[in-house]
Amino acid sequence: MSVATADVITAPEFRAAGTDLSERRRSGLSCGSVIDLTASPDTIGIAWNADGAARIGALTAIAAIASDARLAQAYPGITAAAQGLATPQIRHMATLGGNLAQRSRCWYFRNPQIGCLKKGGSDCPARSGNHLYHVAFDLGPCVAPHPSTMAMALLAYDAKIVTDRRSGLSIAEVLGDGSNGTADNLLAPGERIERIELPAPLASERALYKRAISRTHAEWPLVEICVRAVIEGGVFREVHITAGGIAPVPLRLAASAAALQGKPADAATIAQAAELATSGAKPLTMTGYKLDLLRGLVRDLVERIAA
Ligand SMILES: Cc1cc2nc3c(=O)[nH]c(=O)nc-3n(C[C@H](O)[C@H](O)[C@H](O)COP(=O)(O)OP(=O)(O)OC[C@H]3O[C@@H](n4cnc5c(N)ncnc54)[C@H](O)[C@@H]3O)c2cc1C
Repeated sequence: MSVATADVITAPEFRAAGTDLSERRRSGLSCGSVIDLTASPDTIGIAWNADGAARIGALTAIAAIASDARLAQAYPGITAAAQGLATPQIRHMATLGGNLAQRSRCWYFRNPQIGCLKKGGSDCPARSGNHLYHVAFDLGPCVAPHPSTMAMALLAYDAKIVTDRRSGLSIAEVLGDGSNGTADNLLAPGERIERIELPAPLASERALYKRAISRTHAEWPLVEICVRAVIEGGVFREVHITAGGIAPVPLRLAASAAALQGKPADAATIAQAAELATSGAKPLTMTGYKLDLLRGLVRDLVERIAA
C-alpha cells in the first residue's frame, strides 16, 4: 500500500458552499490556498431560453433546484435527483458546481494517513481492501464510484457544461471515462464551472429517479438511476438510462436503453432491458450485490414510466 505524503492536495481549491471542501480541510487532506467563489447573475439561479431550455448557474443551491416548479415540470429527473441527495441542511447550502466537482467519498481517499492514486500514491488500496461500497463496473485503476448524483441525472439529459474557459462540454468530457484513476474530474487547474445548459425537453417525455441506499437518508447511494423516455402509441422512444454509484464515472446503460428503443412498452421488453442493465459489469469481490440492485432499479423505474 502506498503511503500518503503530508501535502496530499496542495493545489488551490475553490470553495462554493464548502460542504465537501471544509471536511477535507479539517482532516488535513486539502492544504493549499482557498479561492472563495462569489455568485454573479451568470452563476446563480435558473434561466430559461425561448425554446424552453434551462440554464442553471453553478452556484445555484441544490435545494433551489429541488424546489423549482418549472424545472420539475421540464426536467423531473433532475428535480428528483436533487430532492434525493444528502440532507435538507446540505441541500440548502451545497451548489450544483460543487456537487459536480466534489471529491471521492472513498474511505481510503478520505483518510489522510493512507495513500491512494488520487493523492499521488502508486495504487488503489480499496482494490485489495474493503470495497463494499465501491464500483461494480471496474473501468480503471481506482475503484471508487463517482460521488455526484447531479452528474448522473444531468447525463440522462445530455446536459452541457460551461466553464470560464470552455463551453459545450459533455458530462463525459468533464468527468472522463473512468480510466484516469488520479482525478475525480478533468477540469484544468483553476478552471471554474460557470453553468449547466440543458436541451429543451421533448414533447411528452417522462423521467424518474431512484436510489438504493443503505440507510434512509444522509448517505451516498449504493446505486442510483435516472430513466427518461417518450412513449408514443405504446412504444418506447428516446430512451435514456443513466446510473451512479457503480463506476468511477456516471454511466449510460446503453444496452438497456437499446433494448427498449422502438419496442412495445410491455413486461417482456422491460424484463429484458432490466437484465441487460449489467452488460459490461465487472464487479469486485464485495460488490456483486450492486448488480442485483441495478437490475431491480431499472425494472422498477421503467415499469413505472410505462404505466
Ligand atoms: C451526509 C451527506 C450526504 C451526501 N449525499 C450525497 C449524495 O447522495 N449525492 C451527492 O451527489 N452528493 C452528496 N453529498 C455531497 C454534497 O452534495 C456535496 O458536498 C456538495 O454538493 C458540494 O457542493 P459545495 O458547493 O459545498 O462544494 P465545495 O465543498 O465548496 O467544493 C467541492 C469541490 O468542488 C470544487 N468546486 C466547487 N465549485 C466549483 C466550480 N464552480 N467550478 C469548479 N470546481 C468547483 C471545489 O474546488 C472543491 O474541490 C452528501 C454530503 C453529505 C455531508
